[in-house]
Amino acid sequence: MTEMIRNYDVEALVRSDTAHHLHPFTDHKGLHGEGGARIITRAEGVYLYDGHGARILDGMAGLWCVNVGYGRKELAEAAYRQMLELPFYNTFFKTSHPPAIELADKVASKLPANFNRVFFANSGSEANDTNLRLVHHYWQCAGKPEKVNVISRENAYHGSTVAGAALGGMKPMHKQGGALIPTIHHIMQPYWFKDGGDTDPGEFGLKAAKALEDKILELGPDTVAAFIAEPIQGAGGVIIPPDTYWPEIQRICRDYDVLLICDEVICGFGRTGNWFGLETFGIEPDLITMAKGLSSGYLPIAACGVSDRIADTIMANGGEFYHGYTYSGHPAACAVALANIELLEKEKLVEKVATETGPYLAEAIKRFDDHPLVGETRSRGLIGAIELVKDKKTRERFKPDGKAGTVTRDHFFKRNAIMRSCGDVMVLSPPLIIEKTEIDALFDVAEQALDAAAKDLGLM
Ligand SMILES: *Cc1c(COP(=O)(O)O)cnc(C)c1O
Repeated sequence: MTEMIRNYDVEALVRSDTAHHLHPFTDHKGLHGEGGARIITRAEGVYLYDGHGARILDGMAGLWCVNVGYGRKELAEAAYRQMLELPFYNTFFKTSHPPAIELADKVASKLPANFNRVFFANSGSEANDTNLRLVHHYWQCAGKPEKVNVISRENAYHGSTVAGAALGGMKPMHKQGGALIPTIHHIMQPYWFKDGGDTDPGEFGLKAAKALEDKILELGPDTVAAFIAEPIQGAGGVIIPPDTYWPEIQRICRDYDVLLICDEVICGFGRTGNWFGLETFGIEPDLITMAKGLSSGYLPIAACGVSDRIADTIMANGGEFYHGYTYSGHPAACAVALANIELLEKEKLVEKVATETGPYLAEAIKRFDDHPLVGETRSRGLIGAIELVKDKKTRERFKPDGKAGTVTRDHFFKRNAIMRSCGDVMVLSPPLIIEKTEIDALFDVAEQALDAAAKDLGLM
C-alpha cells in the first residue's frame, strides 16, 4: 500500500482545522494557543505517522480500541466487499442481512452461556443508552415498573450522550449539564490508591462494595433497577479494583434483585487477557456493553449483549421495543467486526496477551516503582497505569489536579510516543499485537518522560 502514501500540505491543514473543526473533549483556546493539532496521516502496526513523517509509537491503541493494530488488509477488504455487495439496509421491520446475523452469532458465541442475543448500536455511548432503555423495558415487562433507579460510580466513564454522561461519574461532564437523569445515582469507586489510605486493599474493596448495598437500602430495594460498572475503570485512570470487590458486588446485586450491566467497551475483546473483563473478575452480568475493540475501531459499531433472563422476558411480553438506530447492525461495520474477531482468533491475540505480553508488561512496568514521581504502577493484561505523585509516602498529588499528568504527557508526545494522562495517572492500552521489544521501547520513552517531568515539577 506504500504507493498510496499521500503528501499533504500540513500547515494548510492545521489552518483549516483551527478555522472549521470543533474537536471532541478539547479546550480550543488552549489548542490554538499551542499552534493547533498534530495531524496524523497514516498508521501501520503499532505506529502512527504525522504529516511531517515522524513515527509515533501508539501506546493507547487510538482510544483503547485498535486491538488488531493498524493497516490490517483483512478488515479493509471486508468493508470493501460488503459495500459493493450491500452497503446499507436496515434491520427494522422484519428484515435482516448476512453480516448482522453472522456477527450476532459470533459475538454470542464469545459471551457467557446465558447470553444468546445481541442488539447493535454505533458507539459505546449509544449501547449504554440502549442498555438503560432495556433495563426500564425489562422491569416493566417483569411487572415491577417501580424499579427505576440505576446506580453507577463516581469517576466512571460510560460515554458522552445524555444517558452516557449521566450514567458516567465524571464531575466536569456533570457540571456542564451531563447529569440530567434524576433516577441515576452514584456511589464511591474502588480506587484504593486514591482513597484507601492505610486500609488493607481487600478490606477497602469490601467497603467500596458496601457502598452499593447502602445506596440500595437508602433508595429502597424495590425501586432499584440496575447497577452499571466497568470491570476496570478505563478513562477514570485504569482503576483495577481489589480482588474482594467484584464477588461482593455480585452478591449484593443477587440479594436485592438488581440487574448488573457490565460495560466492556474497553475490557472486551482481549484487553485483560480474556475475551471479556467479566472472565478476568468472575462477573456474572445481565447486560453487557461492547464497542471499541469489537471492530478495532476500523468502523463505528457497538453491541449490547442481552442475557436470556432479559431477552426471554421482553420477548414473552409480545410488545414492540420502541428503540433502534438507523445504522443498528450496519452491514459494512458488521462485516469489519466479524473480520476483526476472526483475526483475533486466527492470530491468538487474546492468548498472547494472557500468556506473553500481559505478564511481560506486568513485570516491565515495575521499573518505575522507585521513580520519585511515581506512587504506584499497576496493570492487567495490556492495560496499565502509572500514578504520579508529589510525595511517594503520603501519596500527595501536585496542585492543581491534572497538571503533573499534562506535563508528563507532553514529554511523551515530544518523544514520539503516546501514553495518555487521566488526571494525574498515566495510562496505557496498546494494540494487542504489540511485541515485547515495542513495550521496552515505550517504557524507555516513559523513563525519559518521567525524568523530564520530575525536573519540571521540581522533584529532580
Ligand atoms: C469509550 C467508552 C464508552 C463510550 O464509547 P463511545 O464509542 O465513545 O461512545 C463507554 N464506556 C466505556 C467504558 C468507554 O471506555
